[in-house]
Amino acid sequence: MADLTDLYQQVIVEHNRSPRNFKQLAHPTRRAEGSNPLCGDQISLEVELQGDRIADVGFQGSGCAISQASASLMTGAVQGKTEAEAEALFQVVHAMLTAAPGVSVDSAKLGKLAALSGVRQFPMRVKCASLPWHTLRAALRAVPTPVSTE
Ligand code: ZN
Repeated sequence: MADLTDLYQQVIVEHNRSPRNFKQLAHPTRRAEGSNPLCGDQISLEVELQGDRIADVGFQGSGCAISQASASLMTGAVQGKTEAEAEALFQVVHAMLTAAPGVSVDSAKLGKLAALSGVRQFPMRVKCASLPWHTLRAALRAVPTPVSTE
């Protein structure tokens, strides 16, 4: 189990160091802002929808390693997915982040996102990890007000 934890930490460190999809889009169709005042995490997310498919997604912002890595992993995971598939993934990730310690996680559906499963041992950091996902949901639902975890 220690090896797995190390592996997960490496994934988070690596995604924080060189985040994927850290960019502005040329033709965004949706946009949302999110913040986690407790930690100081900020995210600005842009999505280009083609029909109901996420053709491209990019984020910018600043914050702790968990929030940045989560945004990087999230944008990679939802690229090319339909809105319904992205919502389903949101549910799986949310369940993972809020599961009681010791409850096993369905890592088959999670892929690389399983790297975030260690976060649930640190309740203060759950909001850091979930912020990008809540912001994505707001973008897809075209919610006009910024997302705040508070
Ligand atoms: Zn944070």
